[in-house]
Amino acid sequence: MNIALWLARTAERYPQQAAIAHGTDVWCDYAEFAHRAARTASWLHAQGVQPGDRVMLFLYNTPEYLPLMWGIWWAGAVAVPVNAKLHEREAAWIAQHSEAHIAFCDSEREHTFTQALRDLGVVTAVKADSSFMLQVEGPELPLQAREDDDPAWLFYTSGTTGRPKGVVLCARQLRGCTLAYFGSVQSVERGDTMLHPAPLSHGGGMYHLPYVLNAGLNVVPRSDGFDPHEALLLAAHWQRASFFAAPTMVRRLVDAARNLPERPQGLATIVYGGGPMYLADIEEALQVIGPHFAQIYGQGECPMTISVLPKSDVLDTTHPRYRERLASVGHSQAMVELKIGDESGAGLLVGEVGEICVRSELVMAGYWRDPEATAKAIRGGWLQTGDVGRLDADGYLTLLDRSKDLVISGGTNIYPREVEEALLTHPQVAEVSVIGRPDPEWGEVVVAFVVCRQPLAVADLDAHCLDQVARFKRPKHYHFVNALPKNNYGKVLKTELRAIDAQGLETRRT
Ligand code: AMP
Repeated sequence: MNIALWLARTAERYPQQAAIAHGTDVWCDYAEFAHRAARTASWLHAQGVQPGDRVMLFLYNTPEYLPLMWGIWWAGAVAVPVNAKLHEREAAWIAQHSEAHIAFCDSEREHTFTQALRDLGVVTAVKADSSFMLQVEGPELPLQAREDDDPAWLFYTSGTTGRPKGVVLCARQLRGCTLAYFGSVQSVERGDTMLHPAPLSHGGGMYHLPYVLNAGLNVVPRSDGFDPHEALLLAAHWQRASFFAAPTMVRRLVDAARNLPERPQGLATIVYGGGPMYLADIEEALQVIGPHFAQIYGQGECPMTISVLPKSDVLDTTHPRYRERLASVGHSQAMVELKIGDESGAGLLVGEVGEICVRSELVMAGYWRDPEATAKAIRGGWLQTGDVGRLDADGYLTLLDRSKDLVISGGTNIYPREVEEALLTHPQVAEVSVIGRPDPEWGEVVVAFVVCRQPLAVADLDAHCLDQVARFKRPKHYHFVNALPKNNYGKVLKTELRAIDAQGLETRRT
């Protein structure tokens, strides 16, 4: 099926139901949402976009985002939503890799992004703002036919090789993860609200699908990025409001709510996940915000959820192992099989530590045009998540570590290799290794160990990074060292680097 059929049906059933809001204002109803999607599809068709072609969205959250995304699907094309915080050059690389036919971007970045695209000799950028929506006033394209296993969403995640990989999600996965939301997180009634303070391009963006299917309201905040006060105001305004929040966002929300005269109003569920949530933090969040939390653990390769800690478990303080459960990432959600595998992939016993492996129709179809990486990730039908954990006797999963070197800062993944490669292009940098340092505010921050050929200023390295990678990926601290600790095979020992960093040895701070 074409996933856009959901929008067509909801618009038929409830044309006047509010569909998208911008802040506290309704931006369009379902009839208008479907019209805009069908007209966008017609515009794309006129540009030569055929079913199966890729169309990229390099945009901050705006009300136009969803009609564009559904317009892409309506035309039978494949949406490629890209993190708006990426550097224009990084986004241009994704446009090239996905062979995007059209790349929508914000008006402020049209010029720089077009330049970055031109440097690679690929498509031109099209600014997607309100004026674009006026441009597409015109004929409507009939919904294009698609099969369940035709790609619909290329979800670009950072790769351990330093280059992002395009996770291919089809209608099958999008449909499955939506039903999993109903089955394991919560049901959605007509008029229920989903706020989008987190980027629509990432996992949180998939949370809009259950709301389109069941005629809920998707609300795009007016501020760029996450403003906790605004999120609380929007929840109070719209009522029965839910949203996805990375642990950093939850901490900021708690700080904002702590001094309010009463507990926040209008909240249904805050779904947290995407990075480790410390026990003390969730306990405080429950106390300050109220009984509104559910946790998910997932990854782009198995979208939205692998496991869920439902609200009822988060609130079940009478359970004898309550705190252990609260510190876990919950139990497998309805549509997945979970096992802890050893190095050969064989299942381990309760309590044993190994790699978390998942088998489900939610698992990605593969990485875009990368059969080698796909074969490494999916072995014998099981997705190897790269996360390490253990299951207890009740089937609750505890995450012990992430794939060895991934740094998660502010809920966003940063692969050290990407930052290392950027720093290594500096002529005075001989060697470099990047790790994450635990941080109370961001979860982790990036720390770089650098061996220089000549003394270097931090400002110089900073500027060098900013030229190549997104701002949030640049190191917050540098250690200048004479050599990197290595094993017999010449591999850098990151565990030793973490120990040095924790002791503050050999440090020359910024
Ligand atoms: P992404 O594909 O960008 O969504 O990142 C997925 C990774 O984030 C997972 O493989 C985990 O390492 C981490 N992650 C996701 N959810 C959680 C969670 N609830 N607790 C701890 N880490 C998580």
